[in-house]
Amino acid sequence: MEKNDIGWNLENSYKELPELFYTPLELETVSAPKLVILNRLLAEEIGLDSEALMGQNGVNILAGQALPANAKPIAQAYAGHQFGYFTMLGDGRAMLIGEQITPAGERFDIQLKGSGKTPYSRSGDGRAALGPMLREYLISEAMHYLGIPTSRSLAVVTTGDPVYRENPLKGAVLTRVAASHLRVGTFEYAAQWGTATDVKALADYAINRHFPLLASEQNVYLGLLDEVIKAQASLIAKWQLVGFIHGVMNTDNVTISGETIDYGPCAFMDRYDPETVFSSIDLQGRYAYRNQPNIGLWNLARLAETLIPLIDNNQEQALKLVEASLRNFPSLYQADWLQGMRLKLGIVNEEPDDERLVADLLGLMKEYQADYTNTFVDLTLEKTQSSELYESDAFKAWLDRWKGRLERPAQTNQGIKQLMQQANPVVIPRNHQVEKVLQAANEQGDLKPLQQLLEVLQSPYDYDSLNQQYMTPPGSSSRPYKTYC
Ligand code: AMP
Ligand code: MG
Ligand code: MG
Repeated sequence: MEKNDIGWNLENSYKELPELFYTPLELETVSAPKLVILNRLLAEEIGLDSEALMGQNGVNILAGQALPANAKPIAQAYAGHQFGYFTMLGDGRAMLIGEQITPAGERFDIQLKGSGKTPYSRSGDGRAALGPMLREYLISEAMHYLGIPTSRSLAVVTTGDPVYRENPLKGAVLTRVAASHLRVGTFEYAAQWGTATDVKALADYAINRHFPLLASEQNVYLGLLDEVIKAQASLIAKWQLVGFIHGVMNTDNVTISGETIDYGPCAFMDRYDPETVFSSIDLQGRYAYRNQPNIGLWNLARLAETLIPLIDNNQEQALKLVEASLRNFPSLYQADWLQGMRLKLGIVNEEPDDERLVADLLGLMKEYQADYTNTFVDLTLEKTQSSELYESDAFKAWLDRWKGRLERPAQTNQGIKQLMQQANPVVIPRNHQVEKVLQAANEQGDLKPLQQLLEVLQSPYDYDSLNQQYMTPPGSSSRPYKTYC
């Protein structure tokens, strides 16, 4: 196959921003690019011929060894607050080769993660290991099929070269597909090291790319802030509803588009406990499950600060406006979350006591260390027997309240069940399953278990073919799960 047959259709709108925002990159060479996994459905969706992409030409591109027509590789500059502290960052191990314009006319960043050093690598090697790249592939795709906005994963290739962590590991490159990689940290970078003109150029770019309807509004930059606030409130509510813990909600990992990015220390909660933290470096629990909404707001405040100069010439007035916008976040989040919880319980209308009903269930789940995902599945299947939780009087009383609530307004059992099935995933990427399939891939080069898990995760709301193997929580003897950046 010829290179052009793959279907690349790249543009480079990011390069029209002031040069401050990026650095052009040269390709680094690796020993032996080899395809490990390709997302054929996604490839076709964005206009690529997956057969052709699997040829050596295609694989060389996915390994950062060759460039499609019109690719202009760059590393993006950004800053960020990491665990509360401001610092200069930038793509230290990623290369944006361009933006793919899909047959449907959409624009997606094509980014190679693990492609080598950049001017922003600091002490890092610019590389990535196979295990974490496969993990990102698996979890980001699972998130997509759960219905949560996220960057996607197109492929993982191995480079043939080792990367040195504690031990030598197989080097790999992940191709990430995202609505964009504009981050809160990109705005912080512009505000810190650019001029007001640079911040404005970035804001105009973000509006044009993600919120073009704003262009006709009276205060477009306040509008931009409001849109990002809405998008993040909605995103974080969705995380909470499925028990997803991002693990490193630094401002450089918060997108303007409202997509989830940066799958490092993330993981799904098994037992319901709001204090859950998986990340080995999150010693204070800053990014614990229960803190995600608050941290989301904190991060949005960092974005707001960068936009103040654009919002009103009178800075006091601008400050008042952004404060009012930020104050909307808790209620936006709460409304999204509560509405999601109602659906998880099959409730179609609103009553003032709904929040209490949900809180009481969660309280019992915590008390009895119930599995978050499976409790909702059990409620959906009306299989609330044989567990300490289900046998408790407190739960039985709650069940009666819930049943009573479901009679207002009257609905058919079938209707309730359908609602609940659409809101309560049967399968999530459970940590012990994820580890098992990664181990097979890493140590035996056996991709089958990973492919099988991926397939199940592609229909997380399928109640017709329940697969106990993937629904089983980890044994109680399992050590606490730890994740790494
Ligand atoms: P993260 O914690 O994944 O958001 O990454 C924080 C920063 O570290 C980003 O600027 C990354 O590009 C950079 N980084 C992570 N791993 C490496 C690496 N192996 N080499 C160079 N930079 C890295
Ligand atoms: Mg990051
Ligand atoms: Mg990362």
